[in-house]
Amino acid sequence: MKKLAIVVPCYNEEPVLEDTARQLTDLLSDLIAREKVSPDSFILFVNDGSTDGTWRLIEQAYAGSRLVCGLNLAANVGHQNALLAGLSSVQLLCDVTITIDADLQDDIAVMEEMIDQFEAGADIVYGVRKERKTDTFFKRFTAQSFYKVMALMGVKSVYNHADYRLMSARAVRQLLQYSERNLFLRGIVPLIGYPTAKVYYARKARTAGESKYPLKKMLSFAFEGITSFSIKPITMVMMAGIAILFCTVLAFIYILASYFTGHTVSGWASIMTSIWFLGGMQLVAIGIVGEYVGKTYLEVKRRPRFNIERFLTHEEKTDSDR
Ligand code: UDP
Ligand code: MG
Repeated sequence: MKKLAIVVPCYNEEPVLEDTARQLTDLLSDLIAREKVSPDSFILFVNDGSTDGTWRLIEQAYAGSRLVCGLNLAANVGHQNALLAGLSSVQLLCDVTITIDADLQDDIAVMEEMIDQFEAGADIVYGVRKERKTDTFFKRFTAQSFYKVMALMGVKSVYNHADYRLMSARAVRQLLQYSERNLFLRGIVPLIGYPTAKVYYARKARTAGESKYPLKKMLSFAFEGITSFSIKPITMVMMAGIAILFCTVLAFIYILASYFTGHTVSGWASIMTSIWFLGGMQLVAIGIVGEYVGKTYLEVKRRPRFNIERFLTHEEKTDSDR
């Protein structure tokens, strides 16, 4: 039997945490009782520098159940890095991991199917949302445009899959080799290349608390995702530049022709608009190039992606002992 670790990133999840811990421990006890996973499997709650009582609740859950472990990060590092902190802490303590959001919008009932797929040979099993009926129109629209734009920009990612996935220990080890600071897991995981499978489920509404991904964060997430994986925006800027140059040549020919035929161009407005337009284009182009230069700067500094403050575990041997 395989030892499972369920990794749950939590940022200000006080309203949902108790319920989540109860549901997950019930599910895990059931999986253990039916010998789907080994009895020393566990759930790891990663507290991503929450400002509310999330860590206190995690400590309580840890004290109350042998199935619960806790990891406290020293500061808020974002969803993706919190996941990574959790995965790197458990990689040596288990055979297989499942990551899921703390709000349980993703159906925990399909974990069993994920484990079946893993037993059948898949190293990575993606949880894919079948429908988004409970999301607002706005969330659905922005989320789906996000996947479409990503595909258009040539970023390989699984449609309608968020960070609900099973990964074998070897897939996690491989993932940790990707040492970039600017982490977009959904783009990196498909690059690993081990056998994959998908399980489908209906996404539920958040039971309590609010989404930590408002529009502004979603846009920056999309922008980060694209610029971390694709240099197409720079190519597009260059294409636009070439197109504009071509138009300028046409305009120049037209002006010359009208000079010889006697119609002089008196259009002040058209000159002004073209100057503004070209100025704007240049600023956009410089901005995009700057974005990539900035990324390079962040990567070369090689700062740690997270700092662990405390690791509560029922294991006799922890990561640091090995
Ligand atoms: N999260 C985190 N750090 C952050 C923001 C979010 O660990 O800085 C966690 C959050 O607690 C949740 C998951 O990431 O478990 C997804 O966040 P949320 O449910 O708010 O996003 P949505 O489902 O609305 O996209
Ligand atoms: Mg959510």
